[in-house]
Amino acid sequence: MNHKIAVVTGGSRGIGKAIVLALAGAGYQIAFSYVRDEEAAMALRAEVEAMGRECLASQCDVKDGNSIKGFFERVEQQFERIDLLVNNAGITRDGLLATLSINDIAEVIQTNLIGTLLCCQQVVPGMMRQRSGCIINLSSVAAQKPGKGQSNYAAAKGGVEALTRALAVELAPRNIRVNAVAPGIVNTDMTAALLGAHEQEVQSRLLIKRLAEPQEIAEAVLYIAERGHYLTGEVLSVNGGLKMP
Ligand code: NAP
Repeated sequence: MNHKIAVVTGGSRGIGKAIVLALAGAGYQIAFSYVRDEEAAMALRAEVEAMGRECLASQCDVKDGNSIKGFFERVEQQFERIDLLVNNAGITRDGLLATLSINDIAEVIQTNLIGTLLCCQQVVPGMMRQRSGCIINLSSVAAQKPGKGQSNYAAAKGGVEALTRALAVELAPRNIRVNAVAPGIVNTDMTAALLGAHEQEVQSRLLIKRLAEPQEIAEAVLYIAERGHYLTGEVLSVNGGLKMP
């Protein structure tokens, strides 16, 4: 039985929830964060505990450095180490650049990119001391093949991919692997609005003619964590062959 400890940010729903359940199924003890949806978070904690795994569900806004610190202090109080960090929390605020407010730009960069950096900063000292660890960052197909109106999100996720490579270089000597998973279009709340208006158009761009399910992204995360021992500094694309203009 695997007794490793995993931290997942934004675990209450969508891809993060699927990652929490996949890791718990593989034997991990779990700490996950949520920001707004406490009811969903508590229901998920109960589900993980019913699988026989210890689980901490705790509020953390990754836009806020103090909130991140507090979250990792609570993780440290409950668990003696962290083996895996999955930086999943993320948002979009799509729109043509001319129409985006400063907030639309800042919140997307702060949540997706700076939040990821700050969470890495919290776990790296412990992983360096234990001379092992794994970090997996959620990027997006938008980093390499952005759609129209995604300048803020593509910039943030491009930054996540560059950060992944830079940290892989920095941490390899301490036996810490750093990778990213870049999903295409996944069936979650984040894509619900997009789907309503453009479902047919989106499907026509996919070689595999359906959206991904969150579990399929979670499988890629689990693969990197448990099987990908020779993978570091990589971005694993899981996008059904999405072709963008
Ligand atoms: P989602 O359904 O919208 O869920 C987002 C999750 O992030 C929720 O758990 C939410 O918490 C949390 N979150 C949002 N803002 C946060 C903040 N400031 N601090 C902490 N947590 C925060 O999104 P998803 O589709 O599962 O996406 C998960 C990740 O995959 C994101 O990084 C996203 O960019 C990436 N991704 C998604 C797709 C896609 O098609 N869905 C494609 C490519 C990449 P609450 O529930 O408490 O609000």
